[in-house]
Amino acid sequence: MFETLSDRLTSVFSSLRSKGRLSEADINATAREIRIALLEADVALPVVKDFIAHVKERALGAEVSQALNPAQQVVKIVNEELIEILGGETRRLRFAKTPPTVIMLAGLQGAGKTTLAGKLAYWLKGQGHTPLLVAADLQRPNAVQQLQVMGERAGVPVFAPEPGNGVGDPVQVARRSVEEARRAQHDVVIIDTAGRLGVDAEMMQQAIDIRDAVSPDEILFVVDAMVGQDAVNTAQAFMDGVGFDGVVLTKLDGDARGGAALSVRHITGRPIMFASTGEKLEDFDLFHPDRMAGRILDMGDILTLIEQAERTFDAQQAERMTAKFASGEDLTLEDFLEQMMMVRKLGPIRNLLGMLPGMGQMRDQLDQIDDKDLDRVAAIIRSMTPAERANPKIINGSRRARIAAGSGTTVSEVNNLVTRFFEAQKMMRQVVGGMGLPGMPGGGR
Ligand code: GDP
Repeated sequence: MFETLSDRLTSVFSSLRSKGRLSEADINATAREIRIALLEADVALPVVKDFIAHVKERALGAEVSQALNPAQQVVKIVNEELIEILGGETRRLRFAKTPPTVIMLAGLQGAGKTTLAGKLAYWLKGQGHTPLLVAADLQRPNAVQQLQVMGERAGVPVFAPEPGNGVGDPVQVARRSVEEARRAQHDVVIIDTAGRLGVDAEMMQQAIDIRDAVSPDEILFVVDAMVGQDAVNTAQAFMDGVGFDGVVLTKLDGDARGGAALSVRHITGRPIMFASTGEKLEDFDLFHPDRMAGRILDMGDILTLIEQAERTFDAQQAERMTAKFASGEDLTLEDFLEQMMMVRKLGPIRNLLGMLPGMGQMRDQLDQIDDKDLDRVAAIIRSMTPAERANPKIINGSRRARIAAGSGTTVSEVNNLVTRFFEAQKMMRQVVGGMGLPGMPGGGR
């Protein structure tokens, strides 16, 4: 799910990475790329239009962050807009004040209702509830039996019409199930209703009749995320017909473009509450818009990193550095130490690197990075005199021995640091005025 969209967006963002600042033309071009990416992912046109309008408005607007470079700012905006379009806050089930809470499932045949009923029951049971599954899908052959199988796997009882009673009346079954729940003290009732292959009036009427008979606390519209644009039309039809409180997306594990997920909430105004991601009972959870957006952007935890950078960013310090470099002064060991301590504030280096996209596979190597190394470097610098820090060229053999002894390190570690520092200084001279480093001239704002 979302692979193509992810790939597309990632490449849009990486083309921004080298830019110091974004012109209006850059933003328009980026917006166009994002638009294509969304349309290719099968997101409904009105949703795409709104999305792009918001992103553009915010990117063009005065929303500048000193801590982030332009590419990061665009990522941040797109992420926030994705979360918004996916519904913002995670929407949790509302339980009735007086049990049982009645949850009714509606949706087309094959959407995954029966499977979902079992998963939801299992999930609720895991949270200490005592659900009752109700087989009110008396249309589809085997639907009752299928629900019984799900119930057995979930360890949850199923209320079904007596076999041999002729064709049962689903409304009657639903009504009696609530009475049964009250009697047997089930605190949640999950009613599986009949679907059809397509939207039809009779099915909708039956759903309405069941709804009116049991006054559900939550009506959940179950939709197969793999059906693309059709999901939007079906959702609209159910919204106009029986109405619903929340959406459940099923088959999110499927190899699809994901447009349904991104459109349904916006089109119907109803939150996505649950996501189903496989055939096993456990493949099911609350739907978290923020996590889903993170998955779509496929950026590791770079968003967390962006937030941390914003939080720990010291504007004054950055300004001091900027002024310093702008005046053509060289990097000193003092600056080096200061910068290092700033990075250190972001947390353990290993975590920091681990949050970068693509670093996931490098865990083993990351595990060998030791924050103590950084601390040793800091100790070495702290053992130098102010004159040595300002002008490391004066650090000769005897000074090195003194510094090593003072910092509890070895001469070769001191040598190492000094060499690395001169390299950094050289690099810095090339970088200044060039790349999009936050807080540097030409970058970050
Ligand atoms: P219903 O007609 O709405 O009750 O749909 P079913 O519950 O019978 O599901 C239809 C098919 O989709 C079944 O083969 C399920 O095993 C399958 N299915 C349901 N949910 C998921 C899911 O989240 N992922 C995958 N891969 N398959 C699912």
